[in-house]
Amino acid sequence: MIDCHVHSNFSPDGKMPIDTACQTAADMELTGIAFTDHFDIDYPYPDLVFMFEPDKYFEDIEKIKNKYKDRIKVLAGIEIGLMPDTIDENQKIVSQYNFDYVLASVHVVDGMDPYMLDYYNNKTKHRAYERYLEEIHRIITLFDDFDMFAHFDYVIRPASYDDRSLRYRDHSDILDSIFKELISKGKGFEINTGSYRDRTDGKKLAEYDINILKRYKELGGELVCLGSDGHNPEHIGLKFSQFSELIKEAGFKYMVHFEQRKPVLIKI
Ligand SMILES: [Zn+2]
Ligand SMILES: [Zn+2]
Repeated sequence: MIDCHVHSNFSPDGKMPIDTACQTAADMELTGIAFTDHFDIDYPYPDLVFMFEPDKYFEDIEKIKNKYKDRIKVLAGIEIGLMPDTIDENQKIVSQYNFDYVLASVHVVDGMDPYMLDYYNNKTKHRAYERYLEEIHRIITLFDDFDMFAHFDYVIRPASYDDRSLRYRDHSDILDSIFKELISKGKGFEINTGSYRDRTDGKKLAEYDINILKRYKELGGELVCLGSDGHNPEHIGLKFSQFSELIKEAGFKYMVHFEQRKPVLIKI
């Protein structure tokens, strides 16, 4: 298995050196690790700059690729946090560099990152989740140059509801629209195990609704991968055996990762 979503210390909210992440993944006998450091152009909180210097990033990854070449596949990806106004600039970054993998995500809706909690004010749970999903749909309609879409369930992580699970039946129309758009563009749907790790806020963990994955499959979706969204070594590969069982149960026979932006399918 390959962890397709890992943040090194090139992400400002990550402290893990690339080498440590590779060592951890190799010790866990993962077959690969894809670094997807944050690149959020015009992130609306000026104290936080989620960007990195791509030249230095590639230089460091190349060295480590070589060091681990007999043990683990190391892939150089990027997680681009998209907003409608930053589509063109993101396009430039993606075209300019030779990433293995481009992971698209939404971290900001209506000028707010759901992590900052203001996002939930004056919204019901249904509205808070639905609005996030609407924004994903809008973004993937506007932007094409990515491989997989990250954490459709990002919005559940900081939510303070007693039951913060996001269920297919509550958002079926918008999830169907997202899946149809991803499938028609040949883009994949990430399972982000980071959305299901303990947030130490005393709230019950959200449950992953397998009906979401089953519906993606039913509509013709084939490209799924596992990403821990790990920012430190304890997160790498988190709950991968549990979630790969879920992927099988939903009817998938393969998992995907990307090398030089090309999908590689591995039987599960
Ligand atoms: Zn993200
Ligand atoms: Zn991430």
